[in-house]
Amino acid sequence: MAMPGMAYFEGRYVPIQDAKLSILEPAITKSDIVFDVVSTWDRVFFRLEDHLDRFENSYKHVKIKPPVSRDEMRTISAELVDRSGLDNSCVYMCATRGLYAGGAAFGDPRNAVNGFYAYVVPYYWVIPKEHAETGGHLWIASVRRAPSEAINQKVKNFNRMDLTAGQFEALEHGADAPILLSTTGKLTEGPGFNVWIVRGKKLLTPGKDLLEGVTRKTVFELAQESGFEPVATELTADDLLEAKEVFISSTAGGVLPITRVNDQAVGNGAPGITTGQLQKRYWEKRKRGWHGTPVDSLLVSRREKVPAE
Ligand code: PLP
Repeated sequence: MAMPGMAYFEGRYVPIQDAKLSILEPAITKSDIVFDVVSTWDRVFFRLEDHLDRFENSYKHVKIKPPVSRDEMRTISAELVDRSGLDNSCVYMCATRGLYAGGAAFGDPRNAVNGFYAYVVPYYWVIPKEHAETGGHLWIASVRRAPSEAINQKVKNFNRMDLTAGQFEALEHGADAPILLSTTGKLTEGPGFNVWIVRGKKLLTPGKDLLEGVTRKTVFELAQESGFEPVATELTADDLLEAKEVFISSTAGGVLPITRVNDQAVGNGAPGITTGQLQKRYWEKRKRGWHGTPVDSLLVSRREKVPAE
């Protein structure tokens, strides 16, 4: 059965299930790949330029030169959304090391032929969608997040053995997702999201060994305009366990309440008021076009399309 979605692969638009990498590709043999994910809602990209900035920072950091320009990335992303028919979507852009000289399995990474592919899938939530309203359950994993001194976590990467191990722990305990501590015992992040604690007028979020989410940046902006003080700081597992209000932020769902951490309820066990306000504001502003780029404004095919009868 055809899967919903569409890919841009080896320079062509193809059904998503037809895009396949070589088993010799360093993206697979060495996780030598960086990526970014931007969402659309009602065919409008949210913060496309912020995602492209972070993507550029990621591929430059690992010395990959994608064979397409930033402008082409915009067009490809828009074409994918249009051709897939997915109004609410997540678009992945991936920059690969590519095969070594002569298609060999080993070699000098400086001589590899770098690649770019992209794909679109239906919009999804980083915790089960029904918990976006009722609140999610986090589990503080025993596995630690790889420190940025080893793998720069500001670079959006697929080196996720730690996050996946954490996910197994969380699921085995009946939770939705894990939250990982750093090797120095500080809160970091979970697979696909940043974490926040509400303490009075302060919104606290970890600052180290994590991906600086575009939604995290959005929460900084929303918080400031609503009279809150967002602060990136060191936080511990106890800070999370003692918090009266917790939420997470992600491209995949926006602002999402957390009502349970490990075996205990957060506050009174209901989604927090501040979280609810931020969540409402996030979607209201997004739907009004805040930081938005309409897919149609980027489409090449739009100009060439024959109008429907
Ligand atoms: N942390 C990790 C490890 C992620 O993979 C993601 C996003 O997928 C995030 C945080 C949240 O980032 P963003 O808000 O840009 O989606």
